[in-house]
Amino acid sequence: MKPTGPLPPEFAKQRGPLTIDGRTAEKWVADAGDTPLFVYDLGTVAARVERFRAALPGVDLHYAIKANPFAPLLAGLAPLVDGLDVASSGELALALKAKPAAAISFAGPGKRDDELAVAIGAGATLNVESEGEATRALAAGERLGLTPRLAVRVNPDVELRGSGMRMGGRPSPFGVDADRAGALVRRIIDAGADWRGLHIYAGSQVLDAAAIIEAQAATLALAERLADQAGAMPPLVNLGGGFGVPYFAGDRPLDVEAVGASLAQTLAKRAPALAGTRFAIELGRWLVAEAGVYLTRIVDRKTSRGETFLVTDGGLNHQLAASGNFGTVVRRNYPIALASRMGEAPAERVTVVGPLCTPLDRLGDQIGLPPAQVGDLIAVFLAGAYGASASPAGFLGHPPAAEVLAGRS
Ligand SMILES: *Cc1c(COP(=O)(O)O)cnc(C)c1O
Repeated sequence: MKPTGPLPPEFAKQRGPLTIDGRTAEKWVADAGDTPLFVYDLGTVAARVERFRAALPGVDLHYAIKANPFAPLLAGLAPLVDGLDVASSGELALALKAKPAAAISFAGPGKRDDELAVAIGAGATLNVESEGEATRALAAGERLGLTPRLAVRVNPDVELRGSGMRMGGRPSPFGVDADRAGALVRRIIDAGADWRGLHIYAGSQVLDAAAIIEAQAATLALAERLADQAGAMPPLVNLGGGFGVPYFAGDRPLDVEAVGASLAQTLAKRAPALAGTRFAIELGRWLVAEAGVYLTRIVDRKTSRGETFLVTDGGLNHQLAASGNFGTVVRRNYPIALASRMGEAPAERVTVVGPLCTPLDRLGDQIGLPPAQVGDLIAVFLAGAYGASASPAGFLGHPPAAEVLAGRS
């Protein structure tokens, strides 16, 4: 048997039928009408926000909505955070329904002129990704007769990956290279734009607090350098995020309290050039991944050359990441369970596959499950981030998954 990732704590302790926010998985499915179904628990998201607030007091919290743009979730989460980070005009439109424009920043390479104009017209902050984009944004502001709110996204000389930090810049489509960013800030200010600050994003999905601590210190040092070069104090420095979640066997949760304690010390010692600056952390998956469960029903049970297959009615078309095809090099099993028999010891080795005609469509490879029959529900955990919106729902023409928000009370 191959291991599966660790179930989030509130599910790991359950026995019998899986419940989400006090309701069984079968009841959620009955209420929604059918499988496949994503259930997101807003209570779990709110608990993450509270944990962040306790661990990092005084630091702004932004939500990167690409992790999960489901509108009811966004409506519930937006009031709990200080800002929303978007990366397309579609996300901008969603964000504007949930938060005032002044709390929205728009990053991403390849913003079109019409997208720049919409953001400037709305009063959102554009995180410019190049000198050319800055020129186009300033021109758009002039055409509209509006002062654009511009921050500069910096391609840092620090890279945060896995459990380590790499020094030395890499070529990147994201941001302006650190050695040119100060000059661009100066140009933006001289052109009369409203300079909002710096956006410095070093990496994603990191579970090692020491790596994040080191990267944050290096990022702050870079921000100090750029403020000096520009001769201006940034109103806001977005220090990036990178807080990871434990998807796979052996993964340990990030020690957010250690990150917070260290960042507080680093910020207390910052240079006078950043004395009046606010700081933000932007998080996607850490806020929402554990709040989501993907439920799919077993349609067929078959054996082939000694291996038992459970075939479900949803797969990588909704949960690309759990199939191992979204940015992973080696396929490993997500946390997965038989929803009717939580906490029961495995009775057999099975491979859980989705309905798609491709061998890539695997939700659980050679995992141990209690006895499972056609009609039972399979639950895939950590489904709250990069699930429905990050999966190729149109591929092979199966119906999209429904999504519902729990924990609204
Ligand atoms: C994707 C992304 C995020 C969110 O990443 P998570 O790993 O989900 O926290 C935040 N900021 C930027 C700039 C991103 O591209």
